[in-house]
Amino acid sequence: MTPRSRGAESGRRGRRYPAGEALQERSAEEWLESMIIRKSREEIARMREAGRIVAGVLDMLEKHVRPGTRTETLNRLADDYIRSRGGIPSFLGYRGFPASICTSVNDVVVHGIPGKERLKEGDIIGIDVGVILDGYQADAARTYAVGEVSETARRLMEVTRASLDAGIAACRAGNRLGDVSNSIQRVVESGGFSVVVQFVGHGIGKEMHEEPQIPNFGPPGRGPLLLPGMTFALEPMVNEGTYEVRVEDDGWTVRTVDGRLSAHFEHTVAVTEGEPEVLTLP
Ligand code: MG
Repeated sequence: MTPRSRGAESGRRGRRYPAGEALQERSAEEWLESMIIRKSREEIARMREAGRIVAGVLDMLEKHVRPGTRTETLNRLADDYIRSRGGIPSFLGYRGFPASICTSVNDVVVHGIPGKERLKEGDIIGIDVGVILDGYQADAARTYAVGEVSETARRLMEVTRASLDAGIAACRAGNRLGDVSNSIQRVVESGGFSVVVQFVGHGIGKEMHEEPQIPNFGPPGRGPLLLPGMTFALEPMVNEGTYEVRVEDDGWTVRTVDGRLSAHFEHTVAVTEGEPEVLTLP
């Protein structure tokens, strides 16, 4: 699941100033760095266990993503899978979200609510899954083709997945957060698609949404320094047409304003001393 980007909100909500420190002596980047919770190896191992369940759900659902399946059926299968392995579906009840996964079909970008809708040949569906296991969280999403899809749909999914891979590759100690954002944006735009700006990736750990917010766009070389132990949910949301989206009256479903397709891929990733480690793998 994806927080609304801070730029889309107004006011000072979410800002926290530790008392008794001189504000002026730290840059904005340093402030943000100080608010990013770094995890021990033990904590990262726990997140990996939650991530294993998330990946298991996404693998298991693949064979059910076919014409005629109702999205509520996918939700029930996912919920059963998560609970049978001792996990808790983190989305259910989150700010009142009524289901255990998000199912986002065609022009739905993210946060689609599972229901009676049946998948049709040629649809694409983004499925987003979050799990809490022993107090630690993991979050991932994939977009699937329902039967045969258009060439454009296939390319949109490929470019979105490639942009996530580029973002993951940039999650190295010594890089800055802007390097991650910029890597994603460059892949998306060189593929001829557009990046959603209203929703963003996020830090993750004991909470589903921690600092920092991780835009899928922006200049390289800026933002907080990446350090071992930081854990991020990277999640490019990529539109076929305009980047603009709107939230429906249900308060959740996010759609492209032009009705064209959108794709979403997400992994939970740890910054280490060496290679980035993807935590949402089977
Ligand atoms: Mg997320």
